[in-house]
Amino acid sequence: MSFEEETLRKYALLNAYQHGGKAQPKAVLSKFFAENPELKGRARELAGLAARIVEEVNRLTPQRQLEILREKWPEVLEAGRRREAEERRLPPLPEAVEGKVVTRFSPNPDCVLHLGSARAAVISWMYAEAYRGKFILRFEDTDPRGKRPQPEFYDSIREDLEWLGCRWAEEHIQSLRLETYYEYAGRLLRQGGAYVCTCKPESFRRLVSAGKPCPCREQPPEVQLERWERMLEGEYGEVEGVVLA
Ligand SMILES: [Zn+2]
Repeated sequence: MSFEEETLRKYALLNAYQHGGKAQPKAVLSKFFAENPELKGRARELAGLAARIVEEVNRLTPQRQLEILREKWPEVLEAGRRREAEERRLPPLPEAVEGKVVTRFSPNPDCVLHLGSARAAVISWMYAEAYRGKFILRFEDTDPRGKRPQPEFYDSIREDLEWLGCRWAEEHIQSLRLETYYEYAGRLLRQGGAYVCTCKPESFRRLVSAGKPCPCREQPPEVQLERWERMLEGEYGEVEGVVLA
């Protein structure tokens, strides 16, 4: 077998292996010329040869194709696998430190996982794994009006994550942690890092679109805390008092 025939056969087998048993003459030829540019002058003749070899290779079963590759050119299989593994790797996180990366997936338990949310979960999990960090599952179930949580979806989300292989190190259910959130909200208000807004939604929106802060923001921490107390005691109706940071 000539060098040309041998090489074309190697790439035809590899291309077939990578594409479900069917090689494409064009792909095989371009790989051949990429490695042997000095033979481009014989393109027409070699295209004929490549077409014949590809036809021959495509008649073999995928298993036979793999056997021949393993036997004669195991190195091209290895190189292909290495490249695939590299292509599948996620881009690095800037300035991330091994062991310190914490990611979270925070589904709302108002439906099962869909492809978009599964994708987000897998990527978060992979980054935590890549940096030997921690992956947290946090159920965002504190919006009973817009996204009413359904008891059965907590478990179906857990099951789907397990099926995907995304193991979480910690799990939190937001609705069970309201005391913690209240505590931090109180701390922020005391430090002047947040305020309680009691404006009517329309006037608040008007101020924001004009680029102006609402008057509640100017109030001292004592006023904020007093409003906060009243909020906790239920003196404001829904959205009549809102904590903003
Ligand atoms: Zn306000």
